[in-house]
Formats: sequence, structure tokens, C-alpha cells
Amino acid sequence: MATRDYPRIVVTPPGPKGKAIVARDEQWTSTSYIKEYPLVIAGGKGAMVEDADGNRYIDFMAGIAVSSTGYNHPKVVGAIKDAADRFLHICGTDFYFEGFAALAERLARLAPGKSKKRVFLSNSGTEAVEGAIKLARNHTRRPALIAFQQSFHGRTYGAMSLTSSKAKQHAHFGPLLPEVYHVPYANPYRMGGPEAAIAQSIAAIEDLFTRQVAPDDVAAIFLEPIQGEGGYVVPPDGFLRAIRQLCDKHGILMVCDEVQSGVGRTGKWWASEWEGVEPDILVSAKGLGSGMPIGAMIAKESVMTWESGSHGSTFGGNPVCCAAALATLDVIEPLLPRIQKIGDRLQAGARKLQEKYACIGDVRGRGLMVGVEFVKDRTTREPYPELIDRLTERAFRKGLLLLGCGKSTFRFAPPLVLDEYDVDTGLGILEECLKEED
Ligand code: PLP
Repeated sequence: MATRDYPRIVVTPPGPKGKAIVARDEQWTSTSYIKEYPLVIAGGKGAMVEDADGNRYIDFMAGIAVSSTGYNHPKVVGAIKDAADRFLHICGTDFYFEGFAALAERLARLAPGKSKKRVFLSNSGTEAVEGAIKLARNHTRRPALIAFQQSFHGRTYGAMSLTSSKAKQHAHFGPLLPEVYHVPYANPYRMGGPEAAIAQSIAAIEDLFTRQVAPDDVAAIFLEPIQGEGGYVVPPDGFLRAIRQLCDKHGILMVCDEVQSGVGRTGKWWASEWEGVEPDILVSAKGLGSGMPIGAMIAKESVMTWESGSHGSTFGGNPVCCAAALATLDVIEPLLPRIQKIGDRLQAGARKLQEKYACIGDVRGRGLMVGVEFVKDRTTREPYPELIDRLTERAFRKGLLLLGCGKSTFRFAPPLVLDEYDVDTGLGILEECLKEED
């Protein structure tokens, strides 16, 4: 395999330039930001990130599953420049332009299932989720919403109310949206295997219907086909179909939040396709514009029944972002089979580490959405968050960018353009970090 000029650590990060930027940021920016570690990015290409001091890293996180085509794919950058040269803005809610119609058509055709779809374009994932909440209530004329424990749907009030990831995300922000109910997500690793996990989750919803909310008061069930923030949890095969059936039985809408799992990340356009289900509403964002702010709410035409003027957005579907999204879809389409293959290599490599290191409890995923869960002990499966913190820090200093999720899972969500060199070298660095633990 050809050698590359990365990873390359020339000064322990953050170096002097990085430190100055971190200090300035810390003085002026909102205290709510997390800042996982002091990575100060100055550039990137493909799955390589360069920091302000010239250090180069292999990127296993893509700015939290966003930089789908890498950091400056020439086709995406070219489309952005071309669109910017023509016009920066016109409000798609009120007027027309070709890119808006073209992106809506493309997404409507790409969405799972045969029914005709329509598309609402937003600026972000959370805005797309808000749109889905509003549409679900408006269409069904029902108030209640069901979501899953450990889910993450966003930070605006509706999406935050559906979210059940960290108490901190709700703390002192109440009252939240009323009529939101949370049930356990089918997690085979934590709920006694595939069948037991599905059974518990479905039983919890049935129980909810008996004790707390009548099913004909429920507008929608929101679910991530693979839980993202909650720990890269892949539900057992059959879970999405079981939810679909339950929704059909009670006239409830099934909303798949594919903000993190969609746009090719799992090797299919949408993770819900792995189970062959057709959601009534599908929500997308993150990788859709390769990092440009754009999201989408794609609904069956039979569901998108709200009246003209009932919802809109000033910037949603901005012309430059639409161009970025169309180019992103063009770049990803031929990559889909490769994403599955390279994802399999990533998972197989992580499994080899699992054989050697007892602290790795579980490896799971589809395509390039891979979770590696760390535990203190494989029998008790007690999470090991301190280890995740140590490994993240160590990997950063050696030139690998990692990101945790759930209680103690690494989420590998690299740019979809990464190759064998990136996978093998990245896993090699992770192994060096693990050896230092011994
Ligand atoms: N839904 C899911 C599954 C997500 O992972 C996220 C963000 O992490 C969101 C919604 C919110 O998206 P955004 O941060 O673009 O508002």
C-alpha cells in the first residue's frame, strides 16, 4: 500500500497556533459548547484533517458524521462555487429556482418505498425533525408522539422533547413539548439478545397504549433506524418491521430519523432500507450537503397534506446548499457498494481488536456507521467511559480522530471516501493506544 503524508504529528496538539485559537474561542463563545478535545482544524482532504500547526490526522468521525464526501471534494466545491456565482439566496418557501425543485425530486425518488413523496427542505436536522412533528400532528390531528430512550433528535424544543439521551440536554429548559412518551429501544447487546430486545420494546409500546395513551391519540413514532448519539445501536433485524406493523395497525405515522444514518452512510441510501420498510416520513441532514447546512423532511404525498402557508423556512433549501447536496448525492451514488465493503473491513478490523482486548465488549454497525462498545468486564457489561476518554485523548495525540457516543462506545463515522489505508492505519493507532492501557 502506498505510503501517505498522514498521519503526521509535528508538534503535540494543540500546538502554539492551536492553543491561541482555543484560548480565544474559550473567551468569546457560548459556554454551552462541548468541545470534545482541542482539535483546531485548518484544512482537510478526503479522510485527512490538518490542524493549525500542521499536524495531520486520520479522521474516523467526519465532524460527527457530516463530511460525507471528505472536506473539500472537487465536485462539491465546484457546484458550490458555480451556484454562488449565480445567486446566494432566494427564499424557496416563496419563489422558485431549479436547484430546489431538482433536489426535492431527487430526494423524493431516493426515499425508500414505492409511494410518491414530497420534500420540505430545512437548514438542519433539528429543523427537519420539527417539521416532521408539525406535519405528523397536522396530518393526523392527533397530539401524542412516541420516541425511544437514548434517542437524539435535536436541540430545538420539539426535537429536544423527543430526545432522551442526556438529562443535561433537558435540564432547566422545561416545560418541554407535552404528550411525548419514551419507550426502550431494541438493543440486543443490553436486552438479552435480538428476540428479547424486540419483544421488550414492542411490549413497552403496547403497555403504553393500555396504561397511558390511547393509540388513536398518537400521531407518530419517531425512531432512528440505527441509534446514533445513543451508542451506535443496531437494532435486531425485524425491529423496524415490527414498528411499521404497529403503526399500520393504529394509523400512526412512522418517522425515521436518518439524520445520522442516511445519505449512504450504511452502504444503502437509507438505513431503513436494510429492513425494507417504507417510513411515512424520513428526516435527513448531516451528510446531505457534505457539511453545508441543509436538511430534508421527505414524506409520502398522502401524508404531506398541510395547507399552503402552514410551514416554511427563510433559508431552508438555500441555492448554494441545494447545489452542494445535489453534488454530494452524485459523488455518493457510485460509492454505495464500496461503502459496504470498506465498512466490512472496518468492522472486521475492530472485531480482531475485540478478540485481543477484553475491554471491547461489542462491535456492531452497517457500512461506515460502526460502534465499538467498551466495558469494564465482559460478563457484567458495565460501561467504561473513563477508558473512552483516555483512548480518545491518546489517539488524538497520535493522529487519529475519534468520537464517543452512548455511555462508552466509539462511533466510527468517517468520511465515506476513506480507503483501506485509512481504515488499517486508523485501527493500528487505536491498537497502539490500547496497548498502552495494558
Ligand atoms: N437527529 C439525529 C439522529 C442526529 O444525530 C442529530 C444530530 O446529531 C439531529 C437529529 C439534529 O441535527 P442537527 O444538529 O443538524 O440539528
